[in-house]
Amino acid sequence: MRFSGWRIVREGLTGNRGWRPHWRTPDPKPEYDIVIIGGGGHGLATAFYLAKEHGLLNVAVLEKGYLGGGNVGRNTTIVRANYNLPGNSEFYSHSLKLWEGMEQELNFNTMMSQRGVLNLFHSDGQRDYAARRGNSMRLQGDDAELLDREQVRAMVPYLDFDTARFPIYGGLFHARGGTARHDAVAWGYARGADARGVDLIQNCEVTGIDIAGGRVQGVQTTRGAIRARKVGIVVAGRSSQVAALAGMRLPIESHVLQAFVTEGLKPCIDHVVTFGMGHFYISQSDKGGLVFGGDLDFYASYAARGNLPMAEHVMEAAMTLMPMIGKARVLRSWGGIMDMSPDGSPIIDRTGIEGLYLNCGWCYGGFKAVPGSGFSFAHLIATDRPHAPAARFRLDRFATGRGLMDEEGTGAQHNLH
Ligand SMILES: Cc1cc2nc3c(=O)[nH]c(=O)nc-3n(C[C@H](O)[C@H](O)[C@H](O)COP(=O)(O)OP(=O)(O)OC[C@H]3O[C@@H](n4cnc5c(N)ncnc54)[C@H](O)[C@@H]3O)c2cc1C
Repeated sequence: MRFSGWRIVREGLTGNRGWRPHWRTPDPKPEYDIVIIGGGGHGLATAFYLAKEHGLLNVAVLEKGYLGGGNVGRNTTIVRANYNLPGNSEFYSHSLKLWEGMEQELNFNTMMSQRGVLNLFHSDGQRDYAARRGNSMRLQGDDAELLDREQVRAMVPYLDFDTARFPIYGGLFHARGGTARHDAVAWGYARGADARGVDLIQNCEVTGIDIAGGRVQGVQTTRGAIRARKVGIVVAGRSSQVAALAGMRLPIESHVLQAFVTEGLKPCIDHVVTFGMGHFYISQSDKGGLVFGGDLDFYASYAARGNLPMAEHVMEAAMTLMPMIGKARVLRSWGGIMDMSPDGSPIIDRTGIEGLYLNCGWCYGGFKAVPGSGFSFAHLIATDRPHAPAARFRLDRFATGRGLMDEEGTGAQHNLH
């Protein structure tokens, strides 16, 4: 089923009776060439690119709940390529280019909105770092513009510029960054993978990984055993638990990240704005809700729900940066489980077990990585060679200490970056 303007008009005039489900609900087969564990954004994108780029169609995605019920449907939808360090820089740059062609590639409206991301800075030291980061972005071929205080004021006049504690010195503006509809990204990749023959199997939890002679043989699931030559683990906040099924201990901690949305308001925030001192960020959804979030909860947990101390912390930061937000009413809040790596950068690599591949460590920034991660992980699984933009996302960097990508300069502490 292809979407087009004509199709929408025709369905609108005929009672919308011609739409069909976007993907099948197949029963699992006893054997596949490749099994992907996890039907989040990264797992679905991996399956899509395995089929599209490598012609590998005997593939299943196993999802313990429903497609897109994890972090891919819980994030604050920010997409950007404003990283500083070699390794991250080229990867996120590649990912953003895939975002820019995604709607055409998937024939699905992911509501990609390149409204610009503005990172504020509040001291001379932060300005220096923003300038350096902007230079790295431009050297990578992406856009970055260093704005002074008056340029920022012209762009976002509703901020409190005169707060004595954290005065705004300026901002780094990344015009190609923005937001996309998170569910639509999961649905678009699911639909594209299914259309190419990938089996998307929901309510199918992987409970064991079969290994013999150092090689993966398949998986045990709540819907029976499934044999596979290759298995990819892409389960975000559950990475440590699923890898443990294969006897692996990962350098990953799981932490809760919360987000909030207000009632719908008239358009008032045109960009994504981030507070350089309070770890607060905000954008406005197409429905009018102000979508915002802040820090991690700071302690390890598998509970995908929020708590009041962090709600208070985020609201304080919001009020400091934009006092006008005090008039908005918060509609709801939620949480997701982040797979925090020690250096804040991801892992896309083979494991010590032949045929078993790992994709994790996305921390609180893996939504923008969805297309790039899927593309690179599919390349790795299909060819057994790393894809160039993701070549530094190696698992052994945590054992050797070589090649760590400490983007935030906070050291090897899972909850500080
Ligand atoms: C509040 C919040 C705000 C965020 N904001 C942003 C943002 O603005 N920009 C950004 O880039 N990133 C953001 N992120 C991070 C981003 O959402 C994640 O890094 C990314 O979605 C993780 O990858 P995923 O989509 O594959 O994960 P998920 O959607 O969590 O997919 C993993 C899937 O694996 C499944 N699974 C787990 N265990 C098993 C098992 N044993 N068997 C079968 N299936 C299993 C889960 O059910 C889940 O569906 C945010 C996250 C949160 C929670």
